[in-house]
Amino acid sequence: MYDISKIRKDFPILSRSVYGKPLVYLDNAATTQKPLCVLDAMRDEYLNVNANVHRGVHYLSQQATDLHEAARETVRRFINAPSANEIVFTRGTTESINLVASSFCDAFMQKGDEVIVSVMEHHSNIVPWQMQATKKGIVVKVIPMDEKGNLILEEAEKLFTGHTKLVSVAHVSNVLGTVNPIKQITAMAHAHNVPVLVDGAQSAPHFKIDVQDLGCDFFVFSGHKMYGPTGIGVLYGKEELLDKMPPYQGGGEMIENVTFEKTTFGKLPFKFEAGTPDYIATHGLSKAIEYIEQIGIDNISAHERMLTEYCMQQMKTIEDMRLFGESEHKDAVVSFLVGNIHHLDMGTLLDRLGIAVRTGHHCAEPLMHRLGIQGTVRASFALYNTKEEIDALVAGIKRVCTMF
Ligand code: PLP
Repeated sequence: MYDISKIRKDFPILSRSVYGKPLVYLDNAATTQKPLCVLDAMRDEYLNVNANVHRGVHYLSQQATDLHEAARETVRRFINAPSANEIVFTRGTTESINLVASSFCDAFMQKGDEVIVSVMEHHSNIVPWQMQATKKGIVVKVIPMDEKGNLILEEAEKLFTGHTKLVSVAHVSNVLGTVNPIKQITAMAHAHNVPVLVDGAQSAPHFKIDVQDLGCDFFVFSGHKMYGPTGIGVLYGKEELLDKMPPYQGGGEMIENVTFEKTTFGKLPFKFEAGTPDYIATHGLSKAIEYIEQIGIDNISAHERMLTEYCMQQMKTIEDMRLFGESEHKDAVVSFLVGNIHHLDMGTLLDRLGIAVRTGHHCAEPLMHRLGIQGTVRASFALYNTKEEIDALVAGIKRVCTMF
């Protein structure tokens, strides 16, 4: 498929050791490692191009602006958005959802109006809506799931009322790995004239995103979870909606004219980008996207699905293993508990063996309540992980089990 040993050389951190053991990095759903091409491009821009964008007539400013706007076009292409005007740069998924929650509610929602989320949301797709509930009196409704971790669409259908104004759901659960049926959800919501926001934090790194094919109205994701730098994210929104939504923050870059009496706002996407953007990070993100495209997103997808299936099979050879999330549509995340071993103990002992996994509620406390647990251990995969690393994880878990 692709030469994994060659790929791993692009990520020098993967060949370091921790506690004298080779690092096995399986915390990719939290953040991914960065390839040299991303780091080099960012360093090169600081060294040779650096100047503030959009403002200067001078050479460097124009060159930096060109890189920044080329990155917007690269993002547009990556998710097949119709127009680069629909690509807003943010600090990440969390900021993108906060922007929509605040601005969409201001434009379209009143006291008693409803937003539908799902039981498997990350806190960043719960708390911004709850803040609007406190501020504006909107109501948050929740799509339930079945025992395998699939959303129950018949129940989702029953949640729609004349007051439903938005559906906001994760594309892929960061705990269960469930790939939610977004096309079905958008079809259902649109039949009620309700737009859909898709939290793509855990899907954009793993498989082909086509926002037009998905039919969603908003799509959000983070650069750092897809081999790009931290502090940069994306909000895609349909132009007809973004046009009607008020700015989220005010300041430079987002205005047309300012007087003390009245300010007029800039056009899309600048209306939503107050202040100096992180133009070095947008360039880094575009290099990360090019890196993904060079390997081929379908190749990455196939490799990670192979790893996920292999991991699930191997996990089942461990006594007293409890796996969370057994949907047939599952991607790159394996959450588990073994016997009575606390997730924190398992994570800490695996760490001593050089294996980096995440433990806890994974910013999805309502999902933990639904599962009746306090937390899980989570292994999550990226394009550079190998079967041997999964063997190391499974051997590590077996070893930890002998200590209890
Ligand atoms: N949504 C999901 C499904 C996530 O997994 C995460 C991060 O783990 C987020 C949102 C928040 O992303 P960020 O912290 O990059 O804003």
